Amino acid sequence: MVDWRLFEPLFEFARKRSLWIVAFCTGCGGIEMPPLMTSRYDLERFGMMPNPAPRMADLFLITGYVTPKTLKRIIITYEMQPDPKYVMAHGSCPLNGGIYWDAYNAIKHLDKYIPVDVYIAGCMPRPEAVMDGIKKIMEMIENGTADGWKRYKENYEYYKKNQDELFGEGWREKEARKWIPWLMDKRREE
Ligand code: SF4
Repeated sequence: MVDWRLFEPLFEFARKRSLWIVAFCTGCGGIEMPPLMTSRYDLERFGMMPNPAPRMADLFLITGYVTPKTLKRIIITYEMQPDPKYVMAHGSCPLNGGIYWDAYNAIKHLDKYIPVDVYIAGCMPRPEAVMDGIKKIMEMIENGTADGWKRYKENYEYYKKNQDELFGEGWREKEARKWIPWLMDKRREE
């Protein structure tokens, strides 16, 4: 029987050099994504690639403020990603609400709802700062401290309680069902 843990350093090396990103372009930070991936800053040289499918990506980038409506999509997308997965949030808004600290519909602390591995402060952070955050998360993957995905499992009750307090229990089912009357109407029209 092979003990796969012996190969873990090799796996960590491979993971950190091939991060595929779900770029969830919330807030103003979405505008910083194209320059990061194109010729001037060129994140592809680190083996990074944007990928719209959460099932095939391991780095979740939250690029700015998050509203409750968006947070539902963020949680569902995060849960669809396979383990191991990492979350990086940039901009002050996901950290503490930023300039929307007193807005009724801005989430103040993203890590109450999903675990964040690296925050990059700034409004908005320069691409160099984002690259610094990328290097940080690569180091954390290598030394095994990018463990938000483990914390989500171990403390699921805590995250679920916060999610339910915000949206009400059974919010996933309600969210899925709310489109059914609209779809039925569409079908009747056809
Ligand atoms: S931190 Fe600043 S730039 Fe980023 S989403 Fe908030 S207001 Fe926009």
